[in-house]
Amino acid sequence: MNAFIGQSSGRLLVDLGAIARNWSGLDRISANCLTGAVVKANGYGCGMLPVSLALSRAGAQFFFVATLDEGLALRAALPDIHIFVLNGLYPGTAKLHAEQRLMPMLGSLSMLDEWLALSVKMGDALPAGLHFDTGMNRTGFRLQDATIVRNKMNNSGYRPQVIISHLCCADVPGHEKNGTQRALFQSLLAQFPDIPASLANSAGTLGGRENHFQMVRPGIALYGGRAIQGRPNPMSHVVTLEMPILQIRDARAGETVGYGATVTLNRDSRLAVVGMGYADGYLRSLSSSNGRPGGHVAIGGRIVPILGRVSMDSIVVDITELGAAVPEPGELVEIFGPHIPIDDVADWAGTISYEILTSLGGRYRTIYRDESGQTYEG
Ligand SMILES: *Cc1c(COP(=O)(O)O)cnc(C)c1O
Repeated sequence: MNAFIGQSSGRLLVDLGAIARNWSGLDRISANCLTGAVVKANGYGCGMLPVSLALSRAGAQFFFVATLDEGLALRAALPDIHIFVLNGLYPGTAKLHAEQRLMPMLGSLSMLDEWLALSVKMGDALPAGLHFDTGMNRTGFRLQDATIVRNKMNNSGYRPQVIISHLCCADVPGHEKNGTQRALFQSLLAQFPDIPASLANSAGTLGGRENHFQMVRPGIALYGGRAIQGRPNPMSHVVTLEMPILQIRDARAGETVGYGATVTLNRDSRLAVVGMGYADGYLRSLSSSNGRPGGHVAIGGRIVPILGRVSMDSIVVDITELGAAVPEPGELVEIFGPHIPIDDVADWAGTISYEILTSLGGRYRTIYRDESGQTYEG
């Protein structure tokens, strides 16, 4: 998939300088503790390795991935950083984790047993984290397991590097669950004295000091996404996606547009067909119909609406309002970027920016701009 011909293909622009600034900004907000960086899911669709190299240059030392494979790829690129694997220890992979100095977030007794057994065998307390569930019911030990976890650790003289939990409602700072989870986490920590603790994702980091503990673990905020609902987003804009116009066409009042004929034109219209569809991550929930608006794109800085359903490889936008400023086929259209915040696209689609970023397909070139303003193709 690299035989692209100049203008005919789209491009994803990733501003690594903005990612570095976002990390440094979060590091200032969490001034009294360590600031990690979550780079799972290919760095939220931005490219795990270029993103991680930029974060490392900015000063990040603690990285979080979801899977062992992500950890292996990251370790090969950055030999000196600390890497935690959030999904925990997949059965039978303890040795590979240890060899590559990847620290699983141990979250069940079987994970802990496998890790302690290898530690004993190697005569070394292999570094790892402990993950306790305080109300999410996703990964992590149940709180009732704390005593048995502590006993197993004490019997083998084991000390984890960090103990974490995860907030389920941090994006709504006033939600009562936040206080409940924090209190449960505090009482858990009392049973594990002197072990560094971490609770906050991006929203938790921005939501207040009481969430910070010894390390914060932001993800989406690094990539410019809105972490907290209903508040201005303080992060720098990072990603711009531009896709090409395939064709301009004139259509008459009364004609319909797209699959399902969900839109009937109520005036003579000028349409632009854009080469971006659901196979490229433009979610089908961005479709419009008579009476229900869908997504919007920007052409020459002007915002225009989508007409009809999102197809696999294209969308149709109404450019009648652009008047004489008719764009040319091949011209690039902003799907999200400086004029269209990624969170607006997410709102139109009924989802969150995380899903927009991690759903992007591969039918575009990725261009990185580094901290010094140099650009290069990924
Ligand atoms: C993904 C993830 C994060 C980062 O969350 P954001 O909302 O993107 O900041 C932090 N901690 C855990 C356990 C995660 O799974």
